[in-house]
Amino acid sequence: SDAVSIHDLQKHYVVGGETVKALRGVSFDVPVGDYLSIMGPSGSGKSTLLNLLGCLDRPTSGSFELGGVDVARMADDQLAETRATSLGIVFQSFNLLPSLTVVENIELPLYYSGRLGRGARERCEQLAKRVGLGNRMDHRPTQLSGGQQQRVAIARSLANDPRFILADEPTGNLDSQTTDDILHLLDELNQEGRTLIIVTHEDEVAERTKRTIVLRDGQVQSDKRRA
Ligand code: ADP
Ligand code: ADP
Repeated sequence: SDAVSIHDLQKHYVVGGETVKALRGVSFDVPVGDYLSIMGPSGSGKSTLLNLLGCLDRPTSGSFELGGVDVARMADDQLAETRATSLGIVFQSFNLLPSLTVVENIELPLYYSGRLGRGARERCEQLAKRVGLGNRMDHRPTQLSGGQQQRVAIARSLANDPRFILADEPTGNLDSQTTDDILHLLDELNQEGRTLIIVTHEDEVAERTKRTIVLRDGQVQSDKRRA
């Protein structure tokens, strides 16, 4: 079955009376367990597509199904619920809250999804350990290196145990050794059956994935699966 199915997706922005067609009819399916990278030059529509896949924005037209459910037609509260429970999102800039500790940052999605109940703290401590931050749980983000901050963000993306993980240039701000550690963590998430989609401009990242879609001018230029 498909984790994601999109058909003839269009996204237009109207800026000062001009219409910018950021996505011009994008279609593809992502089977459960796939590990997909999305590449393409600046302005080709990658961020726009990721915002739609992450339920952060809505398409102008076309269909988008997440786990067989039509997301494009969901009411706002349902969309927020889907985002909170089905999706983990990892950003280039980590997006951690500076006033919270590592374990509190990991707990945030549970807070937003109303699941901050019994056992939550312990589960988030387990996640901190899983990403190698068992001895940093009470640190604040400013006390951590970039790679450690991205580990927190990955642990946070797992708080609700989502089946589907999106990452936007997850290694864009990291040096090469740290990049390798983070990619290894992402590989593991896919190996345990989660569907991963990574937007990247780095060949080194794309080569680890099972399949690469290249966007150009808001359309799919190529869609290749690795042997
Ligand atoms: P990429 O991530 O590949 O650089 P984007 O999705 O950011 O591409 O941009 C695709 C096109 O849509 C570009 O022409 C960009 O300027 C435009 N665009 C993106 N977001 C907006 C927005 N919020 N408002 C207006 N135009 C936008
Ligand atoms: P990236 O390097 O990730 O592609 P961009 O610089 O394209 O980032 O976009 C950063 C943010 O600005 C995104 O949220 C995108 O939607 C928005 N954006 C991009 N182009 C425009 C635009 N022409 N007008 C308004 N917002 C835009």
